[in-house]
Parts: sequence; C-alpha cells; structure tokens
Amino acid sequence: MTAEFDVAVIGLGAMGSAALSHLSARGARTIGIDAYFPAHALSSSHGDSRLIRLGYFEDPSYVPLLQRAYRNWRALETRLRADILTTTGVLQIGAEDSKVVAGTRASCKMHQLAHEVLDKGEMARRFPAFQLGDDDIAVLDPQGGYLRPEAAVMGYLKLAAGDGAVLHFGEPVTAIEPGDGGVTIRSAVGQYRASKVVVATGSWIGELVPQLQEHAVAIRQVVAWYQPRDGFSTEPQRMPCFLRDEGEEGSYFGFPAIGVDGVKVGRHAHFREPIDPSKPNPPVNDADTALLDGFIAKRLPAAAGLRVNAVTCRYTMLPSEDFLLDLAPGNPNVVVASPCSGHGFKFTSVVGEILADLALEGGTSLPIAAFSFDAMNRFVAARKAA
Ligand SMILES: Cc1cc2nc3c(=O)[nH]c(=O)nc-3n(C[C@H](O)[C@H](O)[C@H](O)COP(=O)(O)OP(=O)(O)OC[C@H]3O[C@@H](n4cnc5c(N)ncnc54)[C@H](O)[C@@H]3O)c2cc1C
Repeated sequence: MTAEFDVAVIGLGAMGSAALSHLSARGARTIGIDAYFPAHALSSSHGDSRLIRLGYFEDPSYVPLLQRAYRNWRALETRLRADILTTTGVLQIGAEDSKVVAGTRASCKMHQLAHEVLDKGEMARRFPAFQLGDDDIAVLDPQGGYLRPEAAVMGYLKLAAGDGAVLHFGEPVTAIEPGDGGVTIRSAVGQYRASKVVVATGSWIGELVPQLQEHAVAIRQVVAWYQPRDGFSTEPQRMPCFLRDEGEEGSYFGFPAIGVDGVKVGRHAHFREPIDPSKPNPPVNDADTALLDGFIAKRLPAAAGLRVNAVTCRYTMLPSEDFLLDLAPGNPNVVVASPCSGHGFKFTSVVGEILADLALEGGTSLPIAAFSFDAMNRFVAARKAA
C-alpha cells in the first residue's frame, strides 16, 4: 500500500513540534497529530519559561548537543522573526563541592566555556536579590537564560504548516500498527499510512511505546510565582535565572520577574510523586506551597513578597533521568522521543533535528549513543544487580 505521508508525528509538544518543523523543512510529506491543542496545561511544554544553560552540570557530554541547540534556537528566531531565547546569564549557586557548582565548573573547563566564579561578597554587590550561605559560591554562565515554551511550540508548528505539514488537533492516536514498508496510524477519527512515525507523546508515551510502559514515570511538578518586595532587584537586567543546589534537599530553579506574575521558582522533581498521566494533575496543596514559600523566604528574600500563582505540571522521568531518542526495538519505522526527564526543553531545537535524521536517514551524526534503548536497558540491569 502506498503511504500517504513520509512521516507522521504523534504528539506536538516541545519534541514533536520541533521534529515536524525539521522534517517539513527538508521536504518530507508530513502530518502532525495531537490529542489536545499544543502547549496545553496537561502537557509538559507550557508555563512561560524554561531554563537554558551551556555549562551543563549534569555531564559535560551534553555540551556539544547544547551548542547545536543554541544554533538551532537562533535559526528558529530568524525564521520566525520572534524572540524565543533571552540571555540573562544563569547563576549556579551552592557549596564549592556541590553537584551543581562542581559539575558546572567541570563542564566549563572541559569545553573551555566562558564563566565567572563569584564569592558571597561579589554576589551581594552584583546580584543582591540572592542570599548566600557562608560556604556558598556561584558560577555565572553568561550564555544561560530562558526560552519561551509556548512561543517555541507554536512557532515550530507555524513553520511546519508553512512548509506543507498537515496538522490535526484534538485527535488522540489509539494505535500504531506495523505494515508493509511503513505503519498504519489509527486515531479516534480515522487512519493514516506513513512510511515512518515519530512518537513524541510526553507523559503518555507508554500507551503507544510498550517498551517504555514500565520505565517512563510521570511525576508531579509544582512551580509558584511571587511578586517581589523590591521589583527592581528581580528584573532580568539585575537578576539572572538560577539553579541552587541545596545538597540532600535537591536543587531549586528560578527565573527573574519576566511577566506580570513576577519571580518563578520550583524544586527539580518536587516530591518525586508519581501520577497517572491519563488523569488531570492533582491540585496544588499546602505542602507544595510551604516548600516553595520556605525556599524563597530563605534564599531570595527580595522576591518573597506575595505568592500570586502556583500550578501543578508534570515531568516524565526515565530510570537514568536522561533522554531516549532511538528507533523502536524490532520496528525501525517507529522513532521514539522520550519526554526527557524534566530537563529536555532546552534541547528541543536539536532533538527535532535528531528525530528528523532518525526518520529520514535511519541514523544521525549527532552524539546520541547514550540515549538508546540499549543504554536504558543496561542502566536498569546494572541498577537491579546493585
Ligand atoms: C514545570 C516544568 C519545568 C521545566 N523546566 C525545564 C527547564 O527549565 N529547562 C528544560 O530544559 N526543561 C524543563 N522542563 C522539561 C521540558 O519542559 C520537557 O522535557 C518537555 O517540555 C517535554 O516535551 P514533550 O514534547 O516530550 O512532551 P509534552 O509537551 O507533554 O507533549 C506531548 C504531546 O503529546 C500529545 N499526546 C499524548 N498522547 C497522545 C496521543 N495518544 N495521540 C496524540 N497526541 C498525544 C499531548 O497532548 C501533548 O501535547 C520542565 C518541565 C516542567 C513540567
């Protein structure tokens, strides 16, 4: 049977919208299908802002991908004639030997990235909104900043449509069936034939990719916005975005007063509380707000005026808290894009390129060996053995 499309992309959040745009720009006949309307409140790609930074504390091996992601974000801005990435710098604060501070310095050293190391006195002079402990230092990544998630997702979809992609919203896909030289995609509305399919369905990925059913775990994430006591010290010109290592307590992230709601903060992975992705997000509760109110009062007192908003969203974690970008085992016509364990948005612009490579070429020259099913299975086996 002849395929109607070269590639179908299922799920049009951060990953799917970027993939659809990269594919369509290369001349592929594409269709993009989303169960809802993209960047909706149950997805992981909404909420005004996402951090981007180059000196990646998690592992220096991410840096080449990030360099490519920066290049692709700027290319997206040029094509859209819109601002998607704003550079404010990112401060990474904590004890000298903390994971965030030591890891950032190691990445900067290995890749010779520009950065500044600031002590408590220098921080008080230059960035008075932040309260540091006696043993804390900060590493300023001058290329860090924030992305606008809704503008990025909608921008990629706009470009894809301009390059000929067919877009279907409000249409849940119910099955992907392998067939002669391609796949059949069944939805609540109809069925389509495509040579390849990219599955980028975020926290719902286990429904269409059985190999991830057990491993992709949706967890509750809460963020809150505060109106500062002193509005001027928390504006982007004076307050960079930040990551703050609190040792055993985990790490917090935050943004200056970008929009009307003020300063936004959250704790990475919050309480690591699993949720059922097929149900609405459980609402914000007193324990959530107590955690974030406590943090802002202690570490950003200038911003701890009035909490004006707090919302629940979702992260989707893989066992290694890494990414998965690979062909489905046993079915090379299915390309799988994981939701990226709560730190994937900044990579979206390069993930879209990688997914297009995988769908059209069957492989990529970009470094993704660590993001394969084999790597995930090895990690799980090693963890079980330990
Ligand atoms: C609060 C929060 C803060 C974060 N902060 C950062 C940050 O600062 N920096 C960073 O880099 N990353 C950050 N992340 C992570 C990043 O935002 C996510 O990794 C990324 O947005 C995931 O995108 P996605 O496209 O995989 O998933 P989603 O955005 O959830 O998109 C999946 C889409 O698939 C659709 N779908 C699902 N099932 C079906 C189906 N059966 N048929 C059709 N469509 C379907 C859904 O409707 C949805 O639109 C954060 C995440 C959260 C939640």
